[in-house]
Order: sequence, then structure tokens, then C-alpha cells
Amino acid sequence: MKTKIIATYGPGIERKSVLSKIVPHVDIFRINFSHGSKEFWLDAVENILSVSRVQGKEVSLLADLPGPKIRLGALEKEISVKKGETVTFRYGRPSEGRIPLGHDIYPYLTTGSSISIGDGYMSFSIKKLSKGDIICKAMNSGMLQSRKGINIRNGNVTAAPPTPEDVTFAKFAKKNNFDFIGLSFVRSAENILRMRKAAGELFIVAKIERAEAVKNIDEIAAEADGIMVARGDLAFEIPVERIPIVQAKIIRSSMKHHKPVIVATQMLASMVNSPMPTRAEVNDIAGAVMGGADCVMLSEETAVGNYPVEAVRTLAATAKSAEEMSSRNQSFKIGGISDSITFAAAEIADNYKTECIFAPTQTGSTAMKLSALRPSSNIIALSRSSKVRRMLNMFYGVRSGEIRGYGSVDKMLRLVKEAAASRGIKRYIVVSGSPNHAGSTNTLQYIE
Ligand code: ATP
Ligand code: MG
Ligand code: MG
Repeated sequence: MKTKIIATYGPGIERKSVLSKIVPHVDIFRINFSHGSKEFWLDAVENILSVSRVQGKEVSLLADLPGPKIRLGALEKEISVKKGETVTFRYGRPSEGRIPLGHDIYPYLTTGSSISIGDGYMSFSIKKLSKGDIICKAMNSGMLQSRKGINIRNGNVTAAPPTPEDVTFAKFAKKNNFDFIGLSFVRSAENILRMRKAAGELFIVAKIERAEAVKNIDEIAAEADGIMVARGDLAFEIPVERIPIVQAKIIRSSMKHHKPVIVATQMLASMVNSPMPTRAEVNDIAGAVMGGADCVMLSEETAVGNYPVEAVRTLAATAKSAEEMSSRNQSFKIGGISDSITFAAAEIADNYKTECIFAPTQTGSTAMKLSALRPSSNIIALSRSSKVRRMLNMFYGVRSGEIRGYGSVDKMLRLVKEAAASRGIKRYIVVSGSPNHAGSTNTLQYIE
């Protein structure tokens, strides 16, 4: 299959018996640094890599950085709230009869407005504000859990990322085998540049979840390494009915800039509690794939849901089925010779129905461009570097293999022919850069 599957790691899948059923369907595990602790994240990395090693699968890791998001504080245990009940929130240490907040939002609130928790799962209407106490009425029943995200109308988050904590966490991610970082609440390309300065050559996924980021999507897609349509928080910044249109526009902009794009949040939300998806959910997944998403992602479905294995199977099967309707990227922008040669490779592959396109690559750039074109053939990236191969896990249609070192185009072609023979592939295209010019694509061969 061509679509890439991302699953959020959490307590729901940490048992090896469960994780080993999830790994076969997953390309990238996301670990959300808003939840858990450094110990938990380190255990997660070790657990995921050990299970995937046993299965001979090279999975990648995405560290999702918290950004300036407002959240509940740490709760000792879940709190059950009934509709109509009066509850009091307060910033700071837990105190008798009050639910702790992780951020001081008191100054931004007004009586009569409302607070939403967990991507809209619960809402509270503010009845009284008194000396730091936020006294509310619950509008529906539900359970409150530690560190759940909070949204307030008109004024969700003020600061721009990266926060000092994001920078620290990015360095931690880099040191501990992560391949990608997710930058939350990006506003502009400048935010991404600041993260790059602080954390070096990390692959940065810009999470689009602010109205401002939607406006600036072109400059953000040009600067970021990948894009995520983070629909949870986005739906509080723009009217929820605009989500489908905005998602389509974000995908188009990512494809234009040859960047991989992830569609995320609530894709199979009902499967947190049910072994079967709603028809609307499978339609959402298929729509994302047909619309050009590289990756589809699960959050609580795998992190804490009751049916993580069923959810990830459903996600993968639905995405695979939708690929039948995926089509060539019409918004691909040709910026130079590399793009032109890659474009020609995709044309030949489609017109002559080749079995695959081989992309021997040093930096991954040839395979990334090919992926953005969405040719009908599979793309097999051959790289010496496991870092490059793992990075390519985010790109639609790209599978990776190892290749030995080569110093000339002739040697490279010999190695590709060996790779083709070992896979039983007879009709294919080779597109690559010359060995000494990393990042430039200038060689195209049709082999039969
Ligand atoms: P974001 O805005 O970054 O998506 P989120 O709070 O929505 O933040 P998700 O990663 O989408 O977090 O996960 C959904 C829910 O699953 C979380 O709110 C949390 O309750 C639970 N969860 C996720 N990761 C963990 C974890 N490592 N430990 C415990 N619970 C987790
Ligand atoms: Mg979320
Ligand atoms: Mg978010």
C-alpha cells in the first residue's frame, strides 16, 4: 500500500502482545510530549524499536511538541462530571474541591463565556469568576483526565512556538532516535526557522491548527519539511464547517511544495469505544487519501482507546482501498532541472505502466519529489542511510531498501539492477542524482 499510517503511542498499546499486532500496519509512531514523562517516552522508543526489530520493520518516530497550549493540570485520577453540576477550576497546585489548570487563563475569561475540554468532548459555561476561582456549570456529562487540552473562545493561545520547553524537548527527541518533530500552533514560516536555529537539522512537521497558519499556509509549506492538518484545535479557530475546505487547501499547498501532509484527529473517534467504525469515519479517511494526503493518523484511538488493533487495521484497510482513486498531482510546481527529470520519470512510469521507479538517493530528495507527483507505480528508494530511509516513511508511495556505496553512475546502475533482480522486477525506471551531487536529480533510465 502507498498511504502511510501514523499511530499515537500510549498506555493503550504498550503491552508487547498488543504492540506486536499494531506494528505491521504502522509506518510512524507518534509520541505526544504533552502526555507522560521523559521516562515514559524513553520506554516507548525502546519498546517500539524492539518490537519492530523483531518483525524486521523499519518504523519511524514522531515527537509531537506541546507548544503554547492550554491544558488541565495533572489529576490524581479521572474526575467524573455530571451535566448541570457546578465545578471550580483554578490555576496552580491541586486544592480541595478544585480542578487544577496547567495555565493561568483566569485573566482571559469573562462570565457567560465557555470553556471546552478535550477537542470539544466537554464544555463548561462560566458562571462566576472570583479571586482566581473559575466557577462553571457542566453542559454535558463526561470524564476529565490529566492534561486534557482546553479551548476558550477568542484567545486560545498567545505565544508563538517554539516555546523554551519545545526547544528542550526537540533536543531530547534528536538525542533519542526520533525522526520527526511536530511543531504545534505554528503561525508563520518564521516560527519554523526559529526552531531550526535552535534544534538543527531536525525534520519539522508544522501543525496547522491556527487561523493564522491557514492564511500563511504557502510560506509555511515552503519552509516546513512536512505539514499536519491538526483538526482538533483547528476547529476552535475556524468554524467547524470550514474544516473540509481548509483541509483540501492545506493538502493542495503541501503538494505544490512537494511536502508530505498528514491528516489527523478523530479519524476513527468512535472506535475508542466500539470495534466498528461509523460509515462517516471511513468516508473521511478515504476522502483524505483521495484528496492527496500522504499519511493518515490516529490519536486517542490507539493511545488510550479500547480497540487499538481494530482501529489501526480499519485505518490501513480503508486507506489502501481508497488508493484506487488517487490521481497524479496537478499542483506540482516545476522549479528546475531536478523537478523536470522527476516529472518525466512519472510520465514514463504512468504511460508505460512500469512495475516501479527506483530512486537511489543520498538525501532522499529524488524520492520525495517523485512521491509528491503521485505516479501510479511504486517508488523504491535505495539509500545507505537508515536515517534517510526512516524519513521516507512519511512519503506516499515510497518504500525503502538498502544499497551499498557507489562512486559512479555505472556502479549505481549495477546495484539497482541487482536490487530489481532480487525483487523479481523486470520493467522499471531509475531516476537519481549523480553520485557526487547530493540533492540534484539528473539521471533517468528506462530499463526493460
Ligand atoms: P494535541 O493537541 O497535541 O493533539 P491531545 O491532548 O489532543 O493533544 P492526542 O495525542 O491527540 O493529545 O491524544 C488524545 C488523547 O489520548 C490525549 O488527550 C490523552 O488523553 C491520551 N493520550 C495520548 N498520549 C498519551 C500518553 N502518552 N499517556 C496517556 N494518555 C495519552
Ligand atoms: Mg489531539
Ligand atoms: Mg493540537
